[in-house]
Amino acid sequence: MGILGLNASILSSHDCINLEILHTAGSVWLEGDVVSAISLAEAAATARCRRGSAHCTALASLQLALLLTNLRCIDEAKRAVRQANAAVDDPAIDAVTALVRAKIALCEGDIDEAVELCDAGMVVANDPRLASWASIGNTVRAITAMRRGELAAMIHHANQLKDDVLFGRDVLFGRRDTFPWDSPAWLVVQILEAEKGWEVAVPLARGLFESESSARGLLLSEPAAASFLVRILLRAGDRETAQRGRRCAAALSADNPDIRAITAAALHLDALVEEDVSLLQQAATASRDAWTRASMNEDIGDLLSANYGEFRRACTHYDTAMHSYADAGSPRDSSRVRSKLRRHDTSKAAARFWPSSRIPMLTDTEYAVAELVAGGLTNAEVAGKMFLSRHTVAFHLRKIFQKVGAKSRIELAVMWKQLVGQDITTSM
Ligand SMILES: [Zn+2]
Repeated sequence: MGILGLNASILSSHDCINLEILHTAGSVWLEGDVVSAISLAEAAATARCRRGSAHCTALASLQLALLLTNLRCIDEAKRAVRQANAAVDDPAIDAVTALVRAKIALCEGDIDEAVELCDAGMVVANDPRLASWASIGNTVRAITAMRRGELAAMIHHANQLKDDVLFGRDVLFGRRDTFPWDSPAWLVVQILEAEKGWEVAVPLARGLFESESSARGLLLSEPAAASFLVRILLRAGDRETAQRGRRCAAALSADNPDIRAITAAALHLDALVEEDVSLLQQAATASRDAWTRASMNEDIGDLLSANYGEFRRACTHYDTAMHSYADAGSPRDSSRVRSKLRRHDTSKAAARFWPSSRIPMLTDTEYAVAELVAGGLTNAEVAGKMFLSRHTVAFHLRKIFQKVGAKSRIELAVMWKQLVGQDITTSM
């Protein structure tokens, strides 16, 4: 085994000072002392291993970058990546670096960049010494697929992760070749929800909050994921477990007042459990992450419309959430909020990008894409107009071609008038 994720020849067969320090950082991290864990990981990233040489230093820097990314200290994480690159010139390290940069790109909301970097970095999967780093690539790809609404790809990457992730409490810390800040246990629950519905995800969410140590591990490995779990627990009527998660977050936040990702996550949980709009607004202001901010605005919209009947105010927040989700590269979330917005606001503003389909064989989205493409827009332009990724537009376009029997954009443009005209006639 190699704790750094490097097996055998580079690392594990020697006493590695970098590994040793990182290992201590891992234990301190699990105790909830984040600041000391960062200091230790920083020390690991500068220590010089006698036998593994610069490789150990570089990989320790990349571990430091992962840890900082989870805490949304993005500038510091990028610095650690540069430090790793400066330490050693080796294609294997470059591949690992690409995966770490993919994770950073994801946190910055640049989904296309994250996917590209993952594709470049996934060569590590063919290298037995580095194979365990592939889980970072699979995690990032599962999340990007989830945000784009590509269920098949999401399930594929989640399955790749399954060897690493076992359901239950020990998931968080059971893996021997990664560190606790790398745990994707929270992701498994989100994927289950996306795939099979929130009810199915409830027992797992409960399991993650069962013990204090597992709740702490979860909150630290992805502070923003806690709100997702608390939301489905509340929806299932399990206030007790939700409260437990909230108390744990509050304690972590009190111990780490300078780590904004944690204080914002704690505030978010408070706000959700208390159903407090102004707390949610504070949390949104404190958050450093576009996607998380979007989810907080969605929560505000939900509360305002469900508890107070303030639909107009709710729509303002839904609108903010819809655009922020789109900015964060998440059309799946964006379109969920869009349908909430539509429920309350049937004005053109909400409907303008998504006319309802006048051609029975096309879905509303496909209809909107087809109309824009037939009008001569490029995929990138359609993506911009509809808050979708270019990739998703291309996907819809392939479906449209299949359904209407067009072989090219030009053919579609020629057929379109006829198709729309025909449908109008028959529906009249
Ligand atoms: Zn070493």
